[in-house]
Amino acid sequence: MVAEQHPWRHVPAAQWLDWRWQLGHALRAQSLAEHFDLDADTRQMIDDGAAFEAGVSPFFASLCDRHDPACPLRLQVVPQVAEQRRASFELADPLGEEPHRVAPGVVRKYPDRALLLVTDTCAAYCRFCTRSRWVAGDAPGLDAAGLDAAIAWIAAEPQIVDVLISGGDPLLLSNRRLDDLLDRLAAIEHLRLIRIGSRVPIFLPMRIDEELVHALRPRRVPVWLNLHVNHHLELAPELTRARLALLADGGIPLGGQTVLLRDVNDSVEALRETFYSMVSNRIRPYYLLHCDPVLGTAHMRVPVRRGVEFMGALFGHVSGMAMPKYCVDLEGGGKVPLWPNAVERIDEDTLRITGFDGVPRSYPDR
Ligand SMILES: *Cc1c(COP(=O)(O)O)cnc(C)c1O
Ligand code: SF4
Repeated sequence: MVAEQHPWRHVPAAQWLDWRWQLGHALRAQSLAEHFDLDADTRQMIDDGAAFEAGVSPFFASLCDRHDPACPLRLQVVPQVAEQRRASFELADPLGEEPHRVAPGVVRKYPDRALLLVTDTCAAYCRFCTRSRWVAGDAPGLDAAGLDAAIAWIAAEPQIVDVLISGGDPLLLSNRRLDDLLDRLAAIEHLRLIRIGSRVPIFLPMRIDEELVHALRPRRVPVWLNLHVNHHLELAPELTRARLALLADGGIPLGGQTVLLRDVNDSVEALRETFYSMVSNRIRPYYLLHCDPVLGTAHMRVPVRRGVEFMGALFGHVSGMAMPKYCVDLEGGGKVPLWPNAVERIDEDTLRITGFDGVPRSYPDR
């Protein structure tokens, strides 16, 4: 860490802690080289406009090692030349979300849940983003008329009980707009749960304040916050921990999801440390997601077999409270949890099940 040398060290705290200042001063593709050491090929790719949109809040950039391309935080947000390689099976929309769009901003893949994409903006852009086709793109985000149509669709679909607000990052909406959106959704009788997916507490913790906590209060239905956390160093800063505590103290239930990424968290130790750091901050790990086959992300994936092995190695050696489900997301088929197969049928009355100690034991099944 070379945070003490970062180019924002003279920025007054009042500005540094202002999330709008952070967004206004985010590094973009063309300004990355002002902070990060980039090799000639990477600079060339950026100059050619070949990288999908880059952006990093000064706060998150200051956590990255500006000199070391292998820094696990930097790897997630700084373009790499390998992004230009496109494997034959990689797609712009690997989850098939576009064909499942049922209204502006609404994706429905499950009978009882809907995904509501409210903005295409993020506080930093993850290189492996499943929605890189859309975030930071030229297409406009959801406007007021689009949002009205989305809410009208949800209100007219009584099967939907759970709305997952995502994007882009919903916590980049103003407190007033967020409050209003949650009020409107909570007024829909058949909803039982509202979720927000966000990486803002990692990229832009100064965004979290008392007013935001108030906006996220439970209505007739609770509002859960699911945070995207990939590495324990993302939770190390004092500021991040303090603002997460503000959310937890404010009674907001916090879940976490992690993307399994090569050289970022692809070891038993890195995953264990990430999951324990989450529970230490009152974030309950929910999913470990296999990195989707988005265009130009092969260098960030590990084989699914490795993911299953990590789950097998962690199981029983890590508190159950810190264990997420490892999922692949199938186009059309949704998220499927994968687990080392520990069950074998011996006869009609007996199973053989392998415990966390690796010992198979017979188990009566009558
Ligand atoms: C992930 C996802 C959901 C929520 O799925 P859960 O397994 O309930 O967390 C809903 N809709 C879409 C399109 C999704 O990708
Ligand atoms: S914060 Fe989420 S939506 Fe935004 S770039 Fe990262 S993965 Fe994509």
